[in-house]
Amino acid sequence: MVNLNRLTSWTRHLRTRRGNRIFLQAVKMFKFHMTPFSILLQRICEVLEEYDSKFTFPLTASTAQSNPILVKWLKSSHHEIAIHGYKHVRYPFLSTKHQFLEIKKSIQVFKELRIPFQGFRAPYNLYSETTKELINKFGFKWDAGIGFHRDYRNGHKFFKIRLKDGKESSYTCIPLCEWSDDRMIDNYNLSSEKMAKILIYHLEKARKVNGLIMYDLHPIRIGQNQYIQSLRRLLIHANKIDAWIPTISEAINYWSKHHQWKDSAPVCCLLTGDIDNFTFFDYIRRI
Ligand SMILES: [Zn+2]
Repeated sequence: MVNLNRLTSWTRHLRTRRGNRIFLQAVKMFKFHMTPFSILLQRICEVLEEYDSKFTFPLTASTAQSNPILVKWLKSSHHEIAIHGYKHVRYPFLSTKHQFLEIKKSIQVFKELRIPFQGFRAPYNLYSETTKELINKFGFKWDAGIGFHRDYRNGHKFFKIRLKDGKESSYTCIPLCEWSDDRMIDNYNLSSEKMAKILIYHLEKARKVNGLIMYDLHPIRIGQNQYIQSLRRLLIHANKIDAWIPTISEAINYWSKHHQWKDSAPVCCLLTGDIDNFTFFDYIRRI
């Protein structure tokens, strides 16, 4: 039943895109996956370490299951891992029951693999009202995808949302910058230099209000040789202005206690990047 439902969700997802575009995207992903994921992650972590920065990786649980060794490596890396669902499907296309089962299964897998988690981001940053309720019911501390909605993406503060019963969500939401790496690379084919300029521009906007900025930089893209410089340039600038670059949980915990950023930093920069698949095989086997 779950698989059938996922199949419907995936088919509907495909129908929303043109066949040609899907093929070109698959070719692009094939090229990206020619670099093993372990190398991409290592490259990213080396740059982060150089600039004393942390990263949060929303990870699909089925992907975690496929490579426990890589997961073990990630767990030992001082960065944070969050739940990105079980499979990479569009939740608004699933029934309440099946959304419940997807999230429940992802939690179960994370517990089996002993991956500590506090946060959630739905695949494609797509949520129905049911998804928002379920995140509350399952007791997640934060959500990192609701903030991508146009009502929130330009904000620079943590926020809560109203649920069906009129009460505030117990979890914290975070605005998510619309300039994700997939937008800059897949849609606009930007160079590393231009990407860095955009990321820095938005960091500066958040600095003006002593706020926060969160980016979605997928390791499969940003970890590539030709794009890693954009991350490095952003971090060089962030270091120069004394930005604070913690994991999401660190930032939320600190803010809730002190109502300011650590060491009175002028801005908090949250680096996140979803891991939807570890290999190209996982990518085409999404159902
Ligand atoms: Zn994703």
